[in-house]
Amino acid sequence: MSSYIIEVSDECIGCGICVDLCPLNCLRMGEDNKPYLQYEECWYCGCCEIECPVSCLKMHFPFLIY
Ligand code: SF4
Ligand code: SF4
Repeated sequence: MSSYIIEVSDECIGCGICVDLCPLNCLRMGEDNKPYLQYEECWYCGCCEIECPVSCLKMHFPFLIY
């Protein structure tokens, strides 16, 4: 499962680390055992992407930052 902001590839092992670490508690595990963004409160800290043990989660900024 993926969204515009959070994209998860098939390499996800369903460990739930990203869900546990999200400071805004806006990630949930889906029925496919992959995380998805339940709430749009994401503040783009990048924690979920950085801490994923298999680097399968990609966070996309919805705007450009220079
Ligand atoms: S980028 Fe930060 S706030 Fe957004 S889902 Fe990941 S851990 Fe949560
Ligand atoms: S930390 Fe990575 S491997 Fe673990 S559930 Fe999240 S996206 Fe999947």
